[in-house]
Amino acid sequence: MKIDQPWLNDKATQKVCSVLTDAGAEALFVGGCVRNALLEAPVSDMDIATNIEPRHVMDLAKAAGIKAIPTGIDHGTVTLVERGIPHEITTFRKDVATDGRRAVVVFSKDIAEDAKRRDFTMNALYARPDGTVVDPLGGITDLRARRVRFIGTAEHRIREDYLRSLRFFRFHAWYGDHDEGFDANGLAAIAANLDGLEGLSRERVGAELLKLLAAADPAPAVAAMRHCGVLGVILPGSDDRALAPLVHLEGGMAPDGIRRLAALGGEDVAERLRLSKAQAAALEDLRKEAAGTKGPRELGYHLGAARARDTLLLRAALLEQPPAPGSETEISKGAEASFPLKARDLMPDLQGPDLGKAMKRLEGEWIASGFTLSRDELIARAKG
Ligand code: ATP
Ligand code: MG
Repeated sequence: MKIDQPWLNDKATQKVCSVLTDAGAEALFVGGCVRNALLEAPVSDMDIATNIEPRHVMDLAKAAGIKAIPTGIDHGTVTLVERGIPHEITTFRKDVATDGRRAVVVFSKDIAEDAKRRDFTMNALYARPDGTVVDPLGGITDLRARRVRFIGTAEHRIREDYLRSLRFFRFHAWYGDHDEGFDANGLAAIAANLDGLEGLSRERVGAELLKLLAAADPAPAVAAMRHCGVLGVILPGSDDRALAPLVHLEGGMAPDGIRRLAALGGEDVAERLRLSKAQAAALEDLRKEAAGTKGPRELGYHLGAARARDTLLLRAALLEQPPAPGSETEISKGAEASFPLKARDLMPDLQGPDLGKAMKRLEGEWIASGFTLSRDELIARAKG
């Protein structure tokens, strides 16, 4: 079996692979890029695995005039930059110690050892530079059935790294068969090992959950997370009832993790998931304004068209009522509106804090007028 993808034939990528194969070493694409190529899904990043040690990879690259950066040389990864494009090459590895969060690894020459330390059978697929698929653990059968299945004993694999419990739901949301449902054995093992989730770093949990929520339809996976107790541990106080209605109301618009996260609610969400400042602010606006009563035009004015639309969808999902017809036009009007009064229009009669207060009051009156008061009318009101 072969994959055929434009990135496989890229000159820079082929050159990087030849540096390894010309020296008699392996160069194998691995993980998401092979899985997605077989599923005919878009490929975002590609990883290359090899059977020689990172120092040796560095030496071969330098001899071939390719820039080599020891990005993560201790755990096996070096980056080769050819034609300005970075390629990550990672030596086959095997875990020698795990603590539920991170692993101590040693390098290996054996592809089967490298495959066995990966999480799911569909993620342990490799491809040679000519596209020939190498499948050391029989992952293709599971991939064809869109079955997310742990490699080895689910319980052991979860205890080695509890993030795998969240990845199980992520990959199911993206690539699983929704009619078939979840692998029962995997689900049971996850439910029996909830306590380890608390020890994961908040960044890893946050990044993983946002990736899950960016799937076309994450609602079944999130419902399963609630059933087996995972959701309650990572997002206490959350409620996924509004998620499926939200996805339905979105009607195929581009998925947005923060919009979906806002539908779940919960306590100290930004803190628990280590969201960026911008993400935390967007989440807070969404929660607050969806629970409020501002109309579409005012939301458009305050939040801009995209977030106003998100707010109305979220409000509709929470209230189980579709947004009022004509909302879209109203949002655009609000987003395009600009307050006609400038501070200097009120000077020098008003100064300092009084000026600020008057501007705020008049902006409120202008919004309440349906954005109709003119500059002159506002100046007259300031004086009156
Ligand atoms: P994506 O398209 O989202 O990047 P991916 O499969 O490439 O999907 P990554 O998180 O980039 O996912 O990981 C790359 C590969 O590394 C996976 O396909 C899997 O083989 C392995 N992997 C990553 N994280 C883990 C983990 N926690 N435990 C075991 N294997 C893992
Ligand atoms: Mg990846």
